[in-house]
Amino acid sequence: MGGKFVFVTGGVLSGIGKGITTASIGFLLKARGYSVTAIKIDPYLNVDAGTMNPYMHGEVYVTEDGGETDLDLGHYERFLGINLSKKNNITTGQVYMKVIEAERRGDYLGQTVQIIPHITDEIKRRIREVARETGADVTLVEIGGTVGDIEGLPFLEAVRQMRIEEGPDNTVAVHVALVPVLTTTGEQKTKPVQHSVQELRRIGIQPDAIVARCPRPLEPEARRKIALYASLPEEAVFSDHDVELTYEVPLLLEEQGLGSYIVRRLGLEDRAPDLEAWKGFVDRMKAASRRVRVSMVGKYTKLRDSYLSIIEALKHAGAALGVRPELNWVEASEVERRKLDITEMLEGSDAVIVLPGFGARGVEGKLEAIRFARETNTPFLGICYGMQLAVVEIARNAAGLEGAHTTEVNPDTPHPVIDLLEEQRRIDRLGGTMRLGAYPIKLYKGTLVHSLYGRELVAERHRHRYEVNPRYLDRLEAAGMRVAGVSLDGRVEFIEFKDHRFFVGTQPHPEFKSRPLEPSPIFLGLIKAAAR
Ligand code: GLN
Repeated sequence: MGGKFVFVTGGVLSGIGKGITTASIGFLLKARGYSVTAIKIDPYLNVDAGTMNPYMHGEVYVTEDGGETDLDLGHYERFLGINLSKKNNITTGQVYMKVIEAERRGDYLGQTVQIIPHITDEIKRRIREVARETGADVTLVEIGGTVGDIEGLPFLEAVRQMRIEEGPDNTVAVHVALVPVLTTTGEQKTKPVQHSVQELRRIGIQPDAIVARCPRPLEPEARRKIALYASLPEEAVFSDHDVELTYEVPLLLEEQGLGSYIVRRLGLEDRAPDLEAWKGFVDRMKAASRRVRVSMVGKYTKLRDSYLSIIEALKHAGAALGVRPELNWVEASEVERRKLDITEMLEGSDAVIVLPGFGARGVEGKLEAIRFARETNTPFLGICYGMQLAVVEIARNAAGLEGAHTTEVNPDTPHPVIDLLEEQRRIDRLGGTMRLGAYPIKLYKGTLVHSLYGRELVAERHRHRYEVNPRYLDRLEAAGMRVAGVSLDGRVEFIEFKDHRFFVGTQPHPEFKSRPLEPSPIFLGLIKAAAR
């Protein structure tokens, strides 16, 4: 069997859960025994998400091979239980860069280089390359934004061409669109969906299925209308209404027959899906009544999507332990600016997490939070920047190194306990130049981190420019810090603090590898300590 394709487009508004829908469709195919992969297309000109502000864009998700990608890849990895490559996130920037480089080399000599066919060919080549290299039975392709966006047009044109080239039985087009409700009458309005379907058709794509996003289950009358205007049978219109947990969405869609519908449209054999383990996970999450209060200290706390994978990792750990993490968001820059009392803000925390980040804003607030956690024996996890600042805090307050800092904030500090990685000193371009992706880490026996993982060699994903300065290790260790794991070339990857219930700093981001049915050992350990 050759590879098949499911294309997912969006209508009316962006941010209505297209990524979750795509991940859910993939999940239902995988539950039927088909291998899947998923591609996110982002029609912006950035080459990758690495240079974008998480405040606008949400978390930058890091893949095993060091891609800095859209957070939808995180949804795909969590729902599908697979690792994706940086190639699974295609942007306009990548496509144009490739075509323009080829043009400068002279590869198109004599030709006029155009959006059709040169840009569209490069888009199709990238999609097919992922399909071929993964050997997936089905490749899902989600096109970011909404139908009608100017920047999305070349991608939709590529989809239109692929549907013809791959043949009618080998592709399915799913359109996810919002059905708003009038507050006055409570009526579900289908006109916006009708318009977005019309727009899609104008581009040359007739959808095979509509997934209608709505607060309440789709009314029969609304379903009938959408089917009529989209030239589809009613069974091809699915209700994606609000549910308590995003992890329920595949089950919600399966109940309505979406899995079988897609499989039949692709000419594949329909098989009974294996949903047991997933249902068990969802049930455990819902049944967990005992709450643990986790304080999340960061500087992008107003856009929760900035820390999406961390939030999900906490949920995975909570489900495994039968507890419900309740998040207390602490905006570190506010602590500084308004001289708030950190003790008051962290009062009643069962655990404190100091979140990843960059730059000076909020740093003093984070340092206060770390000191609070260390001195009050509150379970603590510092992730990436949070770990680096934990080293700064220990240096200042336990090792007596006055003015110790990371050179990211103070290049003239008398004690640069966190400093630029050697190879970073020569780098002058910011895009894609951090230490990125998964590297093996050797854990030391007898440490807490080793006991959490239960093995000596682990691999976690990185995204940083700075690291613990080895010149200070003796003084930090004399003050109670302990190195729990190092990279194969000797960089500090995990730290702990002596005589504390749970004090762990991690240079890599274990949240990226946490899965619903396989929680990250670090988060599991934190929540276990918090629940005690
Ligand atoms: N700013 C720090 C560094 O570049 C930490 C990065 C992060 O938290 N992801 O090393």
